[in-house]
This record gives sequence, structure tokens and C-alpha cells, in this order.
Amino acid sequence: MTDIKQALGEIEAVVGPEYVTDKDFMKAAYSRNVDPAFPDRWADIIVRPGTTEEVSAIVRIANKYKIIMVPRGGGADLVGGSATKGGILIDLTRMNHILEVNKDDFYCIVECGITWGALVSDLHPKGLTTGVLGPGSGYSATIGGGLSNSTAGYGSTKYGLVPDICLGVEVVLPDPEGTILRTGVAANKYAKPFARYGVAPDFTGLFMGDVGTMGIKTKAFLRLAPNPPYKAGRYYILNKNDYGKVFELIKELRSKVGDGLSDVIVVPQPVVQIQAGMAKAKPPKRPRLTGSVFLLAFEAFDERILEINIKQVEEIMTRDGVCRPFEFQEIDLAEPLTKDWRFTLEYAYHYFNRFISIVPDTISCTTCHKIPISFIKDGERMSHAFDAKFRTEFPDKSLSLFATVIYALPNGNCVFVGGFNSFNTEAQQPVAMKMWHKKVRAQARYGGAHYWLGESISQSIVEAGAYTPEFAAFFKNMKKVVDPNCLLSPNKFHVHNYDEIMSKYEEKDEPYLEAGDKS
Ligand SMILES: Cc1cc2nc3c(=O)[nH]c(=O)nc-3n(C[C@H](O)[C@H](O)[C@H](O)COP(=O)(O)OP(=O)(O)OC[C@H]3O[C@@H](n4cnc5c(N)ncnc54)[C@H](O)[C@@H]3O)c2cc1C
Repeated sequence: MTDIKQALGEIEAVVGPEYVTDKDFMKAAYSRNVDPAFPDRWADIIVRPGTTEEVSAIVRIANKYKIIMVPRGGGADLVGGSATKGGILIDLTRMNHILEVNKDDFYCIVECGITWGALVSDLHPKGLTTGVLGPGSGYSATIGGGLSNSTAGYGSTKYGLVPDICLGVEVVLPDPEGTILRTGVAANKYAKPFARYGVAPDFTGLFMGDVGTMGIKTKAFLRLAPNPPYKAGRYYILNKNDYGKVFELIKELRSKVGDGLSDVIVVPQPVVQIQAGMAKAKPPKRPRLTGSVFLLAFEAFDERILEINIKQVEEIMTRDGVCRPFEFQEIDLAEPLTKDWRFTLEYAYHYFNRFISIVPDTISCTTCHKIPISFIKDGERMSHAFDAKFRTEFPDKSLSLFATVIYALPNGNCVFVGGFNSFNTEAQQPVAMKMWHKKVRAQARYGGAHYWLGESISQSIVEAGAYTPEFAAFFKNMKKVVDPNCLLSPNKFHVHNYDEIMSKYEEKDEPYLEAGDKS
């Protein structure tokens, strides 16, 4: 009997026959995420544990037979993180319970396989919120995926990234013992998980944004906030297409309105133009799309404060004729007017899908990354310079956008939610993958910080030579402590084993900026 068959039998004894399989039709069903740039990858075993103890037992079996493992939440990853060629795919979505909602101390305990849609739907009628409501894929994406991908999403301008609301986790280490740990204040066995710091170094951070390389998160302790009852939305369009102005406006909104705005999102002019072209219900008069569009979401505990903030924003945005109020109905009659704006879960999860999937039915190679807001203009320029220089290396008829939206985060940084697409054919897949790595390397070299790293992006950062030798060695040493047999997600970050040094994977790329043209 092969090791895989032995392991399958032992895992079956742990979880029961209905929750583990090596059947081809199931392997095919789990062979990809929303990431068609990757070829199909078939796991050897797919398992759906129901408890932390079961996860721990699976890890022990994997170590016994030296079988690789990859954790999976909703599988909405886009960057190859939650599929595996060979090995055990651990689907955590059976672990989807809310264990505690503490209304007095504003935290909750959830199993990591619960979706954002399910959690937020439970919290909002109670007047509570996680603030950041998870990614655009939040109906099916899980809390575990959000923590592991350092997800940014709706509410992130005010509340930060998903790890920012994390007070600690329960995690199964991939070591031979399948060690179960609790981090944050929950590391004190006498304490409730009400805070992150104060018991030990911040070991929670070790598992945040790790894309499932350091442990398998089974429970999360999350910070809650009272959900402000008054919400409003406003849109403005810039009268000139100037990314320097986008920076100045975001900075001023941040300085003068601060947390009165839960979301500051900028839709670049080319994207608004594409949307106008795609609209089915076009208005009779051709609109003047002079610049980027600002989407602003307000929230407050008092209606008067909401009104003051709306007025303040109106003054900032329209001063000196920089912007004018805008309605998406100007380009698409099917869009609701802002006066009809209602804060609903549908709005929270749908706006991203609308922009991300701007050219559907194709491979989308996302290059979403964070930059300081003062770099917006340079980032746009450098992205165009890269695309122009390497135009012939992109897949056929590919559309590359530096950002489908620019999304403000706390303390003066923002996300360029961008990427390029390709036809979903076998011939184009390797072309797309090669260019994807190259583009991410360029972004890492201008100092961008990605968030959903998965396989393609985590490898590209290493290929860019972004880590100092000291950091690379530290990273590998830390992983070796928790995963001595290098079994958990070994391809990510090019940590295929502990014998190689990461710099082996460094790629030298041709420069794409003119001499002296540096930001
Ligand atoms: C339409 C669309 C919109 C999106 N919008 C956003 C967005 O706004 N912001 C954003 O950040 N991302 C976005 N994404 C990408 C992705 O959906 C998110 O990053 C999401 O948080 C992934 O969650 P998931 O549960 O689907 O994770 P998965 O895809 O299942 O996993 C993601 C990674 O985390 C690891 N992992 C999952 N669960 C665990 C666990 N319990 N323990 C350890 N490791 C684990 C996996 O191995 C993998 O590397 C979007 C994707 C789509 C398709």
C-alpha cells in the first residue's frame, strides 16, 4: 500500500468516511481557485475536518508520511494559494461556527472556516460590526483566508486590514506533534481573548498574512465595534485627470474628516470610461468623463455629525472647481443614484466585483498592492512605463490597468487594486504567468507591498530579491521551528526546502525607466 493510501485510511479513522476523499471527481472540483492562470492542480487527498483536534491529528499523519499540506478556506484566492499539486488539501469550511459574541467587551470568537457573509449577517442585527467587512469575495471567502491573506476590503479606510482587527488565533502548527497554540492574551490560559498584546511577544503576527505557511488557523478572536447607525455615500469626479490631485485630496480628507469616512475609493478615469462603454442602459447625452471618480462612504453615531462631515467633504472636493458631484447614472442608467444609497451587505460585497471583473471570462492576473499615498502619481507613471516597455511580452490583447480602484487605508497609504488579463487558453497561461511574476517583481522593487501573496506573488517577491539575506534567513529559520519537515504550503515564497537559500530564485530584469527617471 502506498503512503497516500495509508494516510487516507488513517485520516478516515479521524474524520469519518464522508469528510475525506481521493476520488477523481472531487480532486477535479478542488483543482483550482478563481485563478485560471494556474493549470489544474490535483491534490492526493481532500479532507474537511470538523474540529481543531481533527486538524491536529491530520497534521500528525501528514508528518508521519511526509506528505505536503495546503489549507483552504473559501478558495477565492486568485493567486494560487489554496490549491495543491499532490498532498493533502485541508478544507476548513466545516469549521464555520460563531462560538461567542461578547457585546460587553466587544470581541467575538469564531471558527476560521466561517464566511464574512455569515459573520457580518449575524453581527449587524446586533448593532455590532467587525468594521472591515472582508474582501470583495466576502460572501464565500472565510475569516481564516482573510487573516492569512492580510485582506483589505470594505471598511478598510477606517478600520484597516483584517489582521488589524485580530486579537489572537488558535492555530495548529505543522510540526510532527500537530501542536495547538493560542496567541494574543489567550496565550494566558486563565484569560479571555479580549486583547492582543501584553502576555508575550506578538506571535499572532507570525500567522497574519502568512498565506497558510506557518500554521493552520482554526479559531480567530476578533475585535468588534459598535456599528454606527448613520451612513451615507457621495461621488465626485475630478475636473482634470491628475493623480497628484488624487493624493492631495486623499490627504486632506484624511486630515480633516478622518474616521468620519469609512471608505475612500478612487476609480481611475480609464476604468470609468470602460464602464461607460460597457453600460447597457446608456443615457442619451454623452457625459464628460474628465477625471477619476471618488466614491466616499460616511458613517457616524449622530446624524448631525454625519451632515457636518458631508458638508465638510463637499467643501474640500468642490473648492476651486477641482471636482464636481457625479452620479454613475451619467454613464449607466442601471446604477442607483447616491440619494438612494443604502448601506447593505450587497453594496459592501458588490462594488469590488464590479470593478475587479471589468473584463470577465478571462484570466485575471491581479497585482493589487499597497503604496504610500504620496507615491500615487509616480506609481501610475511607473506602471505605464513598465507596460509600454514590455508590451510585446504581455499575453495577446491583454488589458493592463495600474488600478481598477485606488483604495485609501489608514495612515496615508492606499491600495492599487490592479492587474492585467489574458485569454483563458492553454497557450496563453504560461505567457500570462511569466508576465505576472515580472510585473510583481517591478512593483516590489519600487517598494510596493502586496497583500494576498498566495503562490504567484509570494514567489515573485523572492524573485525580486526584496528580502535582505538576514531577513530571508530569519524567515526560513522561523518556518523551520514551526514546520521542521517543510510540509505546509512549501511552494509559497520559494521555500521548497531548508537547504537552499532564497536568493537562488532571484531574477534580474531589464530596467524600464529612462536613466534618471526615478521617483
Ligand atoms: C471577486 C473577488 C474579489 C476579491 N476582493 C478582494 C479584496 O477586496 N481584498 C482582498 O484582500 N482579497 C480579495 N480577493 C481575494 C481573496 O478572495 C481574499 O483574499 C480572501 O480573503 C480569501 O479568502 P478565502 O477564504 O477564499 O481564502 P482561500 O482562497 O481559501 O485561501 C487564501 C490563502 O490563505 C490560506 N488559508 C486559508 N484559510 C486558512 C486557515 N484557516 N489557516 C491558514 N491558512 C489559510 C490558503 O492556503 C491561501 O494561501 C478577491 C477575490 C475575488 C474573486
